[in-house]
Amino acid sequence: MANILSKIGWFIKERWKTYVFMLFLLLSIAAISLSPAYVLGKAIDTIVSGKLNQASLFMLVFLLILLPVTRYSISFLYNHLSHKTAQTLSFKLRQKYLSHLFEMDSQFYEKYQKGDLISRVTADLDAITQAATSLLEGIIFNVGVIIFAIGVMGFSISWKLTLISITIMPIGLTILNIIRHKKRKYIKIHREIYADMTEKVLESVEGQKAIRAYVQEDNDLVKQYEAIDKDIESWRYIVKYENWFNPLFEIIYGIAYILAFGFGIYFIIQQELTLGELIIFVSYVGMLFGPIISISTIFTQINNATISIDRFDEIMKQEPVVHDENDSKPIIHFNEIHFKNVTFKYPFDKAPVIKNISFSIQNGQTIGIVGPTGAGKSTLIRQLLREFNVTDGQVYIDGISIEDYKIEDIRNLVGYVPQAHMLFKRSVDENIMIGNPQAPHEALDKAVKLADFEKDLQFLQDGLNTMVGEAGATLSGGQKQRLSIARALIKDPEILILDDSLSAVDAKTEDTIIEHLKAFRKGKTNIIVAHRFSAVRDADIILVLEAGKITQRGTHDELLREDGWYKHQYIHQMTMR
Ligand code: ADP
Repeated sequence: MANILSKIGWFIKERWKTYVFMLFLLLSIAAISLSPAYVLGKAIDTIVSGKLNQASLFMLVFLLILLPVTRYSISFLYNHLSHKTAQTLSFKLRQKYLSHLFEMDSQFYEKYQKGDLISRVTADLDAITQAATSLLEGIIFNVGVIIFAIGVMGFSISWKLTLISITIMPIGLTILNIIRHKKRKYIKIHREIYADMTEKVLESVEGQKAIRAYVQEDNDLVKQYEAIDKDIESWRYIVKYENWFNPLFEIIYGIAYILAFGFGIYFIIQQELTLGELIIFVSYVGMLFGPIISISTIFTQINNATISIDRFDEIMKQEPVVHDENDSKPIIHFNEIHFKNVTFKYPFDKAPVIKNISFSIQNGQTIGIVGPTGAGKSTLIRQLLREFNVTDGQVYIDGISIEDYKIEDIRNLVGYVPQAHMLFKRSVDENIMIGNPQAPHEALDKAVKLADFEKDLQFLQDGLNTMVGEAGATLSGGQKQRLSIARALIKDPEILILDDSLSAVDAKTEDTIIEHLKAFRKGKTNIIVAHRFSAVRDADIILVLEAGKITQRGTHDELLREDGWYKHQYIHQMTMR
């Protein structure tokens, strides 16, 4: 409980006035809910003693109507405030979580699965918000009822009868505690299994096209069912403990009733108690049942929430390995990029993907990078996006390590067109404008033209306003590539990186785009990773990357004169045409 309070303490501090008011409302509800039984008991004593008159009857009826109405009104106000506060807390936590996710680097996203990250901001966050509300509501209200009831029973009815009938209660609470501790372990396991199940659903939804194309629906469903089965199985353990709890508790409670009744009647005979008082007493024993059960439920919620808070907190505590320092330098222009003995290994891999690589890029040059699939071309060039820190060596920009510059500035230098396109469920122009949301309309037209996307617009239902389906579902592979190129071009970046981004366009379109780049990106830097040699033929320098190492470098003509991968592959491509 202290854990939860310490984690959401900032929120309670922020809204302490609302919380104090809600506390007051809760205590009022607790006190009022005990009153009708008290009024009735006293009324019975008045009737039995023959003192009932018109005025006291009127008062009795008035009180019996007033009390529930007051209780209803206060409860209404409390519920309104409590829901509002819970929603605000949930919103704020979600906001914190999402902005934290944006701060995280690629290593973090390699470590945590998407489904896991989603379940922490849905199921876990709900458990936290629920606990934050129930904590106050349940504990204050129920403890309030218990204290008021026991207070009235002990001080105004009979302390002896109170002691006799409630001594059994601590035994019940001890049993609850044991069960709660046992359950805790299984709740944690359940949360992890739930995250795994979310990941599976996400994978199936994202991969539904591939699943259908390969007629794998049944296999996929089997996997889903397995995940659901595991989820149900993990619940079974939790429920098992719950099933033990209720009957045991009812037995203990039954004993409390018998004690109250038995000794109550004895005390009436002894003239230590009136009938009305026994009725109030027994009603209060009955009223303790609900709050005690509720407190146990609250402890369960707190249990869940403690686990959820830990899971939520685990993410909030993650620090990005790639981050800005206070003295990170700004950069808007560069003269030279120098890769010096760069080795890079993905964080969770054993072997490096690129090894001891050195080369330089002068501003305004066009660099071609070719080589077999999996050689590390993409990995090499993505070092300029500052997704990870290099494992060894360094990338220098104008003599200063890339790690000493502001991350955002470095990324602003680059217009990167990836192999796998990330399109959003927005219109075509909105998808392009992501590259530069402030760009004027002319810049949009120009980018569309340069990416040779203009010719496609007539085939799209609403031209630039056509909605792009999820993950670009309404566009062909080539159109998606050209839309992504337009997105990078609208940024008019210092460095344009085409990472195998022309693979889905035909040779003629590729030639047009390359010609456009040559004409319109004069004085700017282009890095073209390609499989077709036509895309890099005119580059100032071409690097051949094989198994993570540069094995050849030179212009197209120079490389054709060397006996190596470039020449062999070039001849192969020419003969295949
Ligand atoms: P290329 O662009 O030449 O086809 P890549 O740079 O994409 O090559 O990949 C080089 C190697 O790095 C491949 O073996 C690939 O499996 C591995 N790799 C790529 N991305 C990751 C990643 N995020 N985590 C671990 N390994 C990766």
